Amino acid sequence: MISKYALVILIIYFAGMSEKSFSQENLKFNDLTKFESRVINDKGTETPFTGKYTDSKEKGTYVCKKCGAALYHSSDKFESDCGWPSFDNEIKGAVNRFPDPDGSRTEIECANCGAHLGHVFTGERLTDKNIRHCVNSVSLDFVPAQLEAGRYGTAIFAGGCFWGVEYLLQKAPGIISVTSGYTGGNVKNPSYKEVCTGNTGHAEAVKIIYDPQKTSYDKVLRLFLEIHDPTQVGGQGPDLGDQYRSEIFFLNDEQKKIAENNLNILKSKGFKVATAVTKASEFYTAEGYHQDYYFKNGKTPYCHAYVKRF
Ligand SMILES: [Zn+2]
Repeated sequence: MISKYALVILIIYFAGMSEKSFSQENLKFNDLTKFESRVINDKGTETPFTGKYTDSKEKGTYVCKKCGAALYHSSDKFESDCGWPSFDNEIKGAVNRFPDPDGSRTEIECANCGAHLGHVFTGERLTDKNIRHCVNSVSLDFVPAQLEAGRYGTAIFAGGCFWGVEYLLQKAPGIISVTSGYTGGNVKNPSYKEVCTGNTGHAEAVKIIYDPQKTSYDKVLRLFLEIHDPTQVGGQGPDLGDQYRSEIFFLNDEQKKIAENNLNILKSKGFKVATAVTKASEFYTAEGYHQDYYFKNGKTPYCHAYVKRF
């Protein structure tokens, strides 16, 4: 019995460590203006009918101004005439509710970073769902469904189990979206099961869309090299096999140069870099249950953690 308890304590201890070893401070949040900070950090409220998203009807996703996490789909936005953007549903797990200090309302915050969003009301019978998330425009950014050509950058990396890579990169400033998938192999439309055999040649990878006005390929790549171990050969953490290899899939010569430069910097610091640099080939999006895995399951990665290397 004692050994069982010891095991449980050990598991709790290591689970705690893995949580602590990821520090959001290291990844930094988006810079906020004074007014944005007053609403987002100090739980302020913008004047009704003044926010930029109050009446917007464009198709896309509303993300947290502070951390970039996806919060609301435009399909859940409705006109409430209250003067603030209104949604009758949130993206699953994206919003936390707290009793407001005023004793009657329910405050809503970004589940990822704690940014104040506004309040949620029920029982107003404004929509079938009978819920109204009343959100400050200033707490939100908007990502159009049709990304304007040339406005966003793309990066493809493999660094072990994509759940962890996706989770940690998703939190960085300027990241619009991270999609888990498979690339670098020789089988069309592979399934997770096929990739797991290690016989398809594919690596578990992520495709990142980023905003070049807020970050850069260089910054995203450096972060990638700091949230996984680029010196591990043939796997990542406890996950062993070719599908968990470390690899940068460049989309153009400029990305190739930036990748090689950064790997050379690591080598000059004494790291025995195992990361391959390869021309990108077709990226296959993984099955739905792999997307936002940790986010949906309320867990944190077992296989990845932020370690400063640059
Ligand atoms: Zn946030």
